[in-house]
Amino acid sequence: MAQQDDNLLKNVVSHAKEYGFIFPSSEIYDGLGAVYDYGQNGVELKNNLKEYWWRFMTQLHDNIVGIDSAIFMHPTIWKASGHVDAFNDPMVDNKDSKKRYRADVLIEDAVEKMKDKIEKEAEKAAKRFGESFNREMFLSTNPRVMEYAKKIDETNERLKNAMANSDMVAMKQLMTDLEVADPISGTRNWTDVRQFNLMFSTEMGSVAEDANKIYLRPETAQGIFVNFLNVQKTGRMKIPFGIAQIGKAFRNEIVARQFIFRMREFEQMEMQFFVKPGEEMTWYEFWKEKRMKWHHAMGLGTANYRFHDHVNLAHYANAACDIQFNFPMGFKELEGIHSRTDFDLKSHEKYSGKKLQYFDTESNQSYIPYVVETSIGLDRLFLATLSNSYKEEKLEDGSERVVLNLPPALAPHKVAVLPLVKKDGLPEKAEAILHDLKFEFSSYYEDKDTIGKRYRRMDAIGTPYCVTVDHQTLQDDTVTLRDRDTMKQDRVRIADLRSNLSGKCSLVSLLKKI
Ligand code: ATP
Repeated sequence: MAQQDDNLLKNVVSHAKEYGFIFPSSEIYDGLGAVYDYGQNGVELKNNLKEYWWRFMTQLHDNIVGIDSAIFMHPTIWKASGHVDAFNDPMVDNKDSKKRYRADVLIEDAVEKMKDKIEKEAEKAAKRFGESFNREMFLSTNPRVMEYAKKIDETNERLKNAMANSDMVAMKQLMTDLEVADPISGTRNWTDVRQFNLMFSTEMGSVAEDANKIYLRPETAQGIFVNFLNVQKTGRMKIPFGIAQIGKAFRNEIVARQFIFRMREFEQMEMQFFVKPGEEMTWYEFWKEKRMKWHHAMGLGTANYRFHDHVNLAHYANAACDIQFNFPMGFKELEGIHSRTDFDLKSHEKYSGKKLQYFDTESNQSYIPYVVETSIGLDRLFLATLSNSYKEEKLEDGSERVVLNLPPALAPHKVAVLPLVKKDGLPEKAEAILHDLKFEFSSYYEDKDTIGKRYRRMDAIGTPYCVTVDHQTLQDDTVTLRDRDTMKQDRVRIADLRSNLSGKCSLVSLLKKI
């Protein structure tokens, strides 16, 4: 398991605020729990991440189209989807620290600790036996390891049953048997475990008496399901095909302490892929591989990703896994890939009384398609990108710098144009260059402070290239092009700038890697 890096998260949070990426919501009123605003640089990075996803999913797949459905939807939708009855998390409070937790997460953490113990035993034995160590054999025969493995299986089984039956007494018993202690107070003084529905509700209608309770959507997927036939018919879509959507979702999360990892208002990028019943597992594997390739192409390091199969399947799924990322808090879910069967469409047929079937012209049959979903949290993707890019570096001359080595195509600004000094006609020349570049690249102009300070500021917001206009520029129409990561400067012709930058900074270069 990856080690937690609390300092890294703290530094990323303060850097994100200092440089206009993320501010706490309503800060002058002391903030609002687990709600955040994106600042001037944050919104650019976020938009670029959206575009990277959107263009890959829709533009590069002939059989996937996008929609943008409303946040408010008919309240019966959430009855049909199971969210009114089953979108609960088991909540438990520690009476000493007064902190609130998700009981299932505490139990899963206890399982992770047991896995760590197995790993430690294996490492110790590997050292002891040296070259002759047979890991497989050790894991299947060592009594202590076998004991842990048995306990892990038993715990997973009990957790699965307790969640499936909504049995909160069994949940509490499992915590007691595992001797789960509060990470803050260290005590086992827990309240009973209670179910807590995560949906926010509000009222629609102008007068209270005829107001209707409606929900803020907890996922964007249902907006896709209820539009399935609209899109299929108007777009003449043939199965298999997908519908993609980016939009806000809202969950009244019990524990919301990890910056933008777990928010109460967040953004999802989801795609529902409609397939012929019986073919869903092939497509499930297909999308697992595709989505992982998309992540790898970003260049944050392939070792930072792993698949994690769900032990407790949601009420709608027949297979599900997460793509986990190595966040500063360790490996955690970044994206979910779920085989949702025909649960949602079937249920909407039942509750709406409308047929939601596809007529297959080849077999001359109508059927309710099965669905494979890919669902990624945009804010989590933002945190993964930002925390992975944040570097504190010691330079050769003894000075230090903080640099965000963001993938150039995703950086808020691709290039900064900087006159060396604020006189002698250099600002005018720089502005002319900026004017030329800004139609193609998000560009930045700055003429205050020394050039060194300006480079540092650009490093801190992840601008991959700085163009510096100096006195030589006025004579031969060349500038220096500084690379953020190597800090090397090359003399290039102004006329070559555009071609120099577009090879390195365009999304196309990322998309072509997939
Ligand atoms: P978790 O187990 O972390 O609560 P989940 O399994 O409930 O997540 P899904 O319902 O599968 O999440 O949602 C799909 C994606 O939406 C997640 O992989 C995650 O990236 C994102 N997401 C879910 N809840 C939040 C949240 N509260 N804040 C930010 N992103 C979220």
